[in-house]
Amino acid sequence: MSKIILQPSGNKDSREHYQDTIENSISLQRIGPHISNPDFEILKSIYPSGFCKVWGVTPGGNNLTKWNRIETGDVTLFSRKGEIYASAVATHKLHSKSLAIDLWDFNNKGQTWEYIYFLEEVKNHSIPYIDFNRAVGYADNYVIQGFNVLKASQSISVLKTFDLESEIFIEEITEDTYKEIALKLDTLNETETEYQTKRRLEQGYLKSLLFGKKTIGKCACCKKELPVSFLITAHIKKRSFCSKSEKLDPNIVMPMCKLGCDEIYEKGYVSVMNGQFINMKKTPISDSLNEFIKSIENNKCAYFSNDTKKYFEWHLNHHK
Ligand SMILES: [Zn+2]
Repeated sequence: MSKIILQPSGNKDSREHYQDTIENSISLQRIGPHISNPDFEILKSIYPSGFCKVWGVTPGGNNLTKWNRIETGDVTLFSRKGEIYASAVATHKLHSKSLAIDLWDFNNKGQTWEYIYFLEEVKNHSIPYIDFNRAVGYADNYVIQGFNVLKASQSISVLKTFDLESEIFIEEITEDTYKEIALKLDTLNETETEYQTKRRLEQGYLKSLLFGKKTIGKCACCKKELPVSFLITAHIKKRSFCSKSEKLDPNIVMPMCKLGCDEIYEKGYVSVMNGQFINMKKTPISDSLNEFIKSIENNKCAYFSNDTKKYFEWHLNHHK
């Protein structure tokens, strides 16, 4: 479950930092010399434009303990003057004193904001403290003070109330947790909150297998490159027909876009034969739909392999 990060930013330093490295993006080239190669590669995947948003906290107090709890997908709330004025999603974190000095120099205690985290999906808000307090369960007159990372249980209602969860940056889970979740999903009703939460984690895990940390991916069918929030990990063989071991096979999915490909495959208007998308000539059909199917007909399916062949054959036979 994603968490809420509280980041009061009313003082002069924070106001400047917000302007310098959140409102204004920072080029990865400037960041590169201060960080390790693996971190740099990750940032290039997350920020294909070559520009990122970045924030940091000083080592003071127990900031480090709190910073250690930040995970991908956590949502930072920037606040000042009685309101939350912006949110952003945490994408990656690293420790670099020299990067912090380059970006923000030192504070008046000679410290710098070296515990760094990167952000994306910055949104403006105007949420009065009282609305936030009620969502999290604080007293009405509570004032957000100091950097903090809320527990997942406190964060859930804030995330839901203000619709803050990311569809791109999703907390990372282990293979074992994934397996547990994938099997648990079958026992839950789609309308339950627990189903939605688990489904999101499952999609996040499968997308990380398909795309790594990339925020842009390619639809297996129309080949359009899209933000991963527009792609779903579609089951090649309909999930409800899969055996337990098939459900847990990572080869059971391929990325399909929400712009139509997932729907026409799911409904059997197209299928894959010998590695190529084919028109299944389903009815009813309209000119617009026919045109769309024609545009992807004969496309090669990069996910057709010895491991996935049997799943595609199932789909073809099922929709014949
Ligand atoms: Zn597509």
